[in-house]
Amino acid sequence: MIACGVGQTGGMKTAIIIVHALWLAYTSAFHAHNVARKSPAEAIPILLYHSVADNPQDPLSVLPARFERQLAHLRDRGYHPLFFADLAAWGQRPLPPKPVIITMDDGYDNQFTAAYPILRRTGMKATIFAITGRMGKPGYLTWQQLRMMEASGTVDTQSHTVTHPDFTKISPAQKRAELVESRDAIFRQLGHRSYAFAYPYGKYDQDSVVAVRLAGYRYAVTGEPGYAERSQGLLKLHRIIMTGAMPLEDFYALLP
Ligand SMILES: [Zn+2]
Repeated sequence: MIACGVGQTGGMKTAIIIVHALWLAYTSAFHAHNVARKSPAEAIPILLYHSVADNPQDPLSVLPARFERQLAHLRDRGYHPLFFADLAAWGQRPLPPKPVIITMDDGYDNQFTAAYPILRRTGMKATIFAITGRMGKPGYLTWQQLRMMEASGTVDTQSHTVTHPDFTKISPAQKRAELVESRDAIFRQLGHRSYAFAYPYGKYDQDSVVAVRLAGYRYAVTGEPGYAERSQGLLKLHRIIMTGAMPLEDFYALLP
């Protein structure tokens, strides 16, 4: 029941914050080298957000005002927000200059109430990796909110499993069920195919990559920090992990 984000009860919230802290410790060794930037044609920043909210206890929660400053910076610097579908030409034809992919994991309700208006104001767009079994539950988005955000062209909903299990700890059959059933739910509720996947907790192993490929996904993103490059493999793309504590100067340096 623990996602990487804010829960709805005190006990669960504490447990989730612990998971966040552990996850940050796991990735912090890489933080100093969050970005090894190459030319834009080779490397694309894929930003990883969770909650956009005023929740100082959650290290992955970014303040709405901070989120707006970051997105306004991307707009002012001429970044072109992409969905994963736009990567079809990656490596064959030039992508728009200064591409960026904004992702928000788990599907928290504040991604509609707080993040969506800011995406609209700044002309940015985002991929929401939804835990499909949680949509409509307290603290999470509703399918109707996702439909509204997709209809505006601002959001693309993709799969983050049904129940958010650690993929390195479940059987091949369980992996397949999570991959196929989450895609079916997105098709049933939103009427489009899910072709991109985010590993829960960013964790994966070789079996996970095989399962994602066999289930027919074209792109998958991990919790490994840094710019995404084709050489990582389209099913093992890295992301830039956004934390509430990241100074704006660091964000500007990562995305000049
Ligand atoms: Zn997650």
